[in-house]
Amino acid sequence: MPHDSGVSMIKSVIFDIDNTLYSYDLAHETAFAALKSYAEKELCIAPDEFKELHTEANEAIKQRLGNCAAIHNRLIRYQYIIEKLHKPLIHAQRMDDLYWNTLIGCSVPSPQAADVMRELKASGISLGICTDMTSYLQFTKLDKLGLIEYVDFIVSSEEAGAEKPDRAIFELAVSKSGFNPEECLYVGDSYKKDVLGAHSCGMPAAWYTYHIAGKLSETDISEKPLLPAMTYDPEYSVSGGPAMYHITGLTELLKIVK
Ligand SMILES: [Mg+2]
Repeated sequence: MPHDSGVSMIKSVIFDIDNTLYSYDLAHETAFAALKSYAEKELCIAPDEFKELHTEANEAIKQRLGNCAAIHNRLIRYQYIIEKLHKPLIHAQRMDDLYWNTLIGCSVPSPQAADVMRELKASGISLGICTDMTSYLQFTKLDKLGLIEYVDFIVSSEEAGAEKPDRAIFELAVSKSGFNPEECLYVGDSYKKDVLGAHSCGMPAAWYTYHIAGKLSETDISEKPLLPAMTYDPEYSVSGGPAMYHITGLTELLKIVK
């Protein structure tokens, strides 16, 4: 929503990482293909069978752990597969290394990500990260993407003890920013987790769909109340509700904060 006064309220921009600062989907495809080749060569498991085992492991781990940062830990999924196959356990660790080294190795920053972050910093905006996942991997991704130098604070779900869209993770990010929720703009690719999650905490949010455009239909976007802003949670709403934007390029953030 344009600011009538011409002066932005936004003092901090807080980013999601996966499918926001790089394409997780593309990188995952490459990394998963590497895993399937490994399984075929080292474990004599056909790609389709490996895919089924992987799905089974995901579901079993999810059921056991519930919604917490450890469900993103792939080593325990590969461990499940290797234990089920009665193969040497070292394979689980090698698969974990292979997956992440491949994924992080082929990831590139989203278009203009560094330029936008640099420009925001230059205009005095603080930059944060608020992401589901374990901290070590998210730090490693930010470093490989060449973006960690622009970031003032990081919140991972491992650190927060809560996964998006739980309000607790956004509250920790707002608290680290040192500003009020309505002064923080959250940017992410998941409408449910990122946009509504941040909004429920009183933060304006930008839904960035560049990396997920192929998965969206016209109505996926048009039927959402992106503007005017809606009041998602009355308890945390600011006057009129914080704004929710739809952006397809990160440079659009510069317009929102100006
Ligand atoms: Mg994401």
